[in-house]
Amino acid sequence: MSSPAFQIMDSPIFLGTLSEHLPTWLASRAYHQVFILTDQHTHEYCLPLLQSVLPPMEAVYVYCIAAGESEKNLQTCAEIWQAMLEAKLDRNALVLNLGGGVIGDMGGFCAATWKRGVDFVQIPTTLLAMTDAALGGKTGVDFQGIKNIIGVFKPPAAVFIDPHFLQTLAIRERHSGLAEVIKHAVIGEPFFYQWLLGAYPTRHAEAAFWLEMLEKSVEVKVRVVTEDPLEKGPRMLLNFGHSIGHALESWFLSTPQPLTHGEAIFIGMLCEAWVSQDERLAERVHALGKNLFPWVEIPPSAFTALWEAMQQDKKNASGTVRMAVPDESAYTLRLIHPTKSDIKAALARYQAMEI
Ligand code: NAD
Repeated sequence: MSSPAFQIMDSPIFLGTLSEHLPTWLASRAYHQVFILTDQHTHEYCLPLLQSVLPPMEAVYVYCIAAGESEKNLQTCAEIWQAMLEAKLDRNALVLNLGGGVIGDMGGFCAATWKRGVDFVQIPTTLLAMTDAALGGKTGVDFQGIKNIIGVFKPPAAVFIDPHFLQTLAIRERHSGLAEVIKHAVIGEPFFYQWLLGAYPTRHAEAAFWLEMLEKSVEVKVRVVTEDPLEKGPRMLLNFGHSIGHALESWFLSTPQPLTHGEAIFIGMLCEAWVSQDERLAERVHALGKNLFPWVEIPPSAFTALWEAMQQDKKNASGTVRMAVPDESAYTLRLIHPTKSDIKAALARYQAMEI
C-alpha cells in the first residue's frame, strides 16, 4: 500500500498522483457504494481522471451542483441529501468530494450528518482546498449570509492531493489559494517564508515547484491541527486574516463583484497585521501578495455590515471581537481585541495604499 505523506489524527493525507494512491487505499477498505459530489467545473475537468482510476465497484453515483460560494447553503445540502436518499446510500457508503473548498466543506457536512455520519474522502481540486480547506475536518455551510456558521468537526477518512488538478484551474483561483499559502508561510518557520519569496517568482511554471510548495504548506497546517484539533487554542492561528477577510468575503458576495476567498483573506491579513501594530508582519504579507491580488475598493457604507459580521465571528468571546494573529516566533498565537475604530482605521489605511 502506498504510504501517506502526512497524517492528521486518523486521516491519512496522500500527496502525488491519484492513480498511485486512491485505488490501493480503496482496496484496503470495504465500501460498496460510492457517492461522488462535484460542481459543474470539477464535473467537466476533474471527474474523468477520478473515474479513470476508480476500481470497479457495486454502485457509483455522481451528483453535480452549480459552482460557487453562493451554493454553499442548507438549500443545496437538502438537494444533496435528496440525491443520497434516491441513491439509497447506506452507512457503509463512501462520499468522495471532488472539488474546491465549497464542495469539500459542504460534501463533508452532508456526509457527516447523513444517517449520523458516513465516511467521506476529500479530493481537493483547487490550491486553496489542497493547502487548507480539505485538511483538518472542518465541514459546514453558510447561513443567512454568514460564512461557515453551521457545521461540524469530522475528519475525512483520507485526503488525496494531486497537483495535476491545478492545470485547469483559473489563474484567479490559483492566486486565491496562494493567500492561504502566504498565511502558512508567515505563521510557520522563517525558512518557508524565505523559500516562497524566492521560489514563486522564478519557478511558478515548474510542476516540481507546486509539489514542493504543497508539501511545505500542508506541513504547517498538519502541525497546527495536530496540536489542537478542535481549535481550543493554537489552531486559532490559522484564522489569521479571516476575521476581517470573512466579513469582506460575505459582504462582497451580495455585490456584482464577489471576491475570491484568497482576495478577501489577503486584505484581512494586511489589516489584521496593522491592527495588531505589527508592521513587519504586514510587510511580509505584502511582499508575498502584492503581485497576486488586485486592490479592491471597499465603500465606506459597507463598514457597518462588516463590523456586524465580525461580531458574529466564531473566535469571539464574551461579546468582544477577538482576532488571532501570529506572534514573533514561528507557530505562536497572539489574541487581540480590536475596537471598531481600530478596524475602521486599518480598512482606511488599506484604501489609501498603492498595491
Ligand atoms: P470553490 O470550491 O468555489 O472553487 C473555486 C472555483 O474553481 C469554482 O468555480 C470551482 O468550480 C472551480 N474549480 C475547482 N477545481 C477546479 C479545477 N481543477 N479546474 C477548474 N476549475 C476548478 O472555492 P475554493 O477557493 O476552493 O474554496 C473556498 C471555500 O473554502 C470557502 O467556502 C471557504 O469558506 C472554504 N474554506 C474552508 C476551510 C476549512 O478548513 N474547511 C479552510 C479555508 C477555506
